[in-house]
Amino acid sequence: MTANPDCELVLDTAYFSRWLGAAHRLFERESARLTALDAAIGDGDHGANMVRGFRAVTAGAEQTLASCPGDLLTQAGTALTNSVGGASGPLFGMALRRTGKRLGSEPAVSAVRFADALRSGAQAVGKLGGAVPGDATLLDALLPALDALDRELASGAPVFAAFDAARAAAREGADATEPMRASKGRASYLGERSVGHQDAGANSVVLLFEALTMAADPQGQPDPVAAAEQVEDARPAGAPAGRSGGRVGVVLVSHSRDVAEATAALAKAMVGSGDLAPVRAAGGTDDARIGTSAELIHAAALEADQGQGVAVLCDMGSAVLTVRALLGETDGRSMPSGTRIVDAPFVEGAVGVVVTASAGADLDMVVAAGEDARGYRKV
Ligand code: ADP
Ligand code: MG
Repeated sequence: MTANPDCELVLDTAYFSRWLGAAHRLFERESARLTALDAAIGDGDHGANMVRGFRAVTAGAEQTLASCPGDLLTQAGTALTNSVGGASGPLFGMALRRTGKRLGSEPAVSAVRFADALRSGAQAVGKLGGAVPGDATLLDALLPALDALDRELASGAPVFAAFDAARAAAREGADATEPMRASKGRASYLGERSVGHQDAGANSVVLLFEALTMAADPQGQPDPVAAAEQVEDARPAGAPAGRSGGRVGVVLVSHSRDVAEATAALAKAMVGSGDLAPVRAAGGTDDARIGTSAELIHAAALEADQGQGVAVLCDMGSAVLTVRALLGETDGRSMPSGTRIVDAPFVEGAVGVVVTASAGADLDMVVAAGEDARGYRKV
């Protein structure tokens, strides 16, 4: 035990809610800078994406009052995943959701517990996006920040000094992405030309750590929504939003044609800005009765296929069995290569899959985003 006055400091729901509010304010303020960074090597929407995401986080937190830090962060992560539209949504969303889950239902947590939960969030981001240190992504700021946080807390530093050391390490990590060649995300499509530019997502990580310190002060919290300005999307006119080789396709298989079509419409509406992944509804039988049609599913998969794989969501029973059977066929009616069933609840999974596919993510990431919906708790 050290002699630090705040070594026993616990972080409660009010603190984390101030954290999210402070982060929202910073994203509103820094949106143009983040977007400019992304415009140099990506598609110029990162600032707008983070603002859209944190507006959804704030709106969600006002609507549903969380009873503990874990629930608050899980809920915020889900809001990010569902609202952003770019790759940063599922990635930062996963980070917060996993952090929240790891915190469980304790009413307040120590900084050491929080650091441990953030670490599991970072690991989940690595798994989801497949990036490793040196790929010039948000992980290049997040991992050094977490190392610094662990180090400072272990040496008995006061909590807010440790948070500030983590922010400084994130800043250094973000700066260090400049000479790196991006090999994940849209920036990777530029190859060598990505060298010489800082990663936008890494700069967002710096803001999240800066917000941890701002949240220490219960007084200094103006309403982030009041500070909100119109967010510009600096994507150059006509700039391609997706990878040149197409996107992962999505097929929604329900017993009901109406359910499949309405779910497709809902998921597409959640994408926000940007180009949509190909989404096809394959509900009901050929003659529009309740049931499943292998013909319709097969045709939908061929239509949705752009050469990047196809993610299939099914509701139950024969929908699942028919898709499984089609995947086993090797002649005549074989499915496009890289077709996979997403093991997830239909509606929530569809939203995660369509949002992530529209962001240009690869098949593994799209399937993981859909399957993450299995863990959404509603009570
Ligand atoms: P998009 O790339 O879909 O336009 P954003 O511009 O909002 O989405 O976010 C881009 C940021 O997301 C990048 O700067 C990078 O930090 C992060 N990113 C993209 N792909 C990955 C990945 N596979 N793993 C980790 N981080 C990634
Ligand atoms: Mg972008």
